[in-house]
Amino acid sequence: MIEDSRKVATNPASGQERPHDSGGASTGSGDVDAGGLLPRLSHMTGRRVPFRTATVGLDQPILSVTFDDYPQSAFDPGARILEDHGVRGTFYAASGLFGLTDSRWTVAGADTVADLHARGHEIALHGHAHRAANRMRTAAFAADLAANRAALRRIVPTLTRENYAFPYGLCGLMQKRHLAGTVRSCRSVQPGVNAGRIDLHFIKAVEISVRGLTEANLERWLDTAEAARGWLVLFTHDVCDAPSPYGTTPQVLARVVARALERRFAVLPVAAALDRAGIA
Ligand SMILES: [Zn+2]
Repeated sequence: MIEDSRKVATNPASGQERPHDSGGASTGSGDVDAGGLLPRLSHMTGRRVPFRTATVGLDQPILSVTFDDYPQSAFDPGARILEDHGVRGTFYAASGLFGLTDSRWTVAGADTVADLHARGHEIALHGHAHRAANRMRTAAFAADLAANRAALRRIVPTLTRENYAFPYGLCGLMQKRHLAGTVRSCRSVQPGVNAGRIDLHFIKAVEISVRGLTEANLERWLDTAEAARGWLVLFTHDVCDAPSPYGTTPQVLARVVARALERRFAVLPVAAALDRAGIA
């Protein structure tokens, strides 16, 4: 489905490649053979090697709604839609993108981080420069992750044991090993329900978008999660009436949350979901 799409988005204003979570690439001094075979092999290997596993078998299925990058529209109306239903979400923030605008959306400003946290949402890591893990040397990756954590902790000093989402869903064996020692979990973009034995550093997630979870297949995904006594993690980007291919509308987002609650799912941020599942 959507995993590992390698499309490159170009920002017409700058001519720069603009990363988002289902395509894109970037180059820099910390890169490993950008565009080459090694990053692909590293991702393919990394995703198959768990450093820490857990068992998920829930009396009550869980839904987590997460936002990557996150655009201003994920902050408002996205966060508000969740709050209107009495639930909270997880916001994976790439601190180097704060306030930047491209052809798809404007990333929310740093000021929204403290606000979301105060309102009960989870602030999580997504890399400072929003670069694919498998395209960075391990030391550069670790430095970027540390910069991301430091930037967010300057805003919310009480953050601890953060969760992380791979930009573009791309991991890398050594990068994943580093993450396993420093973050609580990593979220991928591999569609599926988390049930039974799961890899805590490659959590499956379904995109709320026209090519992922829609109103048409929402009930099937909820059926699958319920039958598996599992944890369904969703992710999206912008939330507006005319969303990008990576986002959704306020109506669909509200429908997803409402149906999950009607079907007696617990709707929880990622950290709270791990707590509920008894995963330290
Ligand atoms: Zn992203």
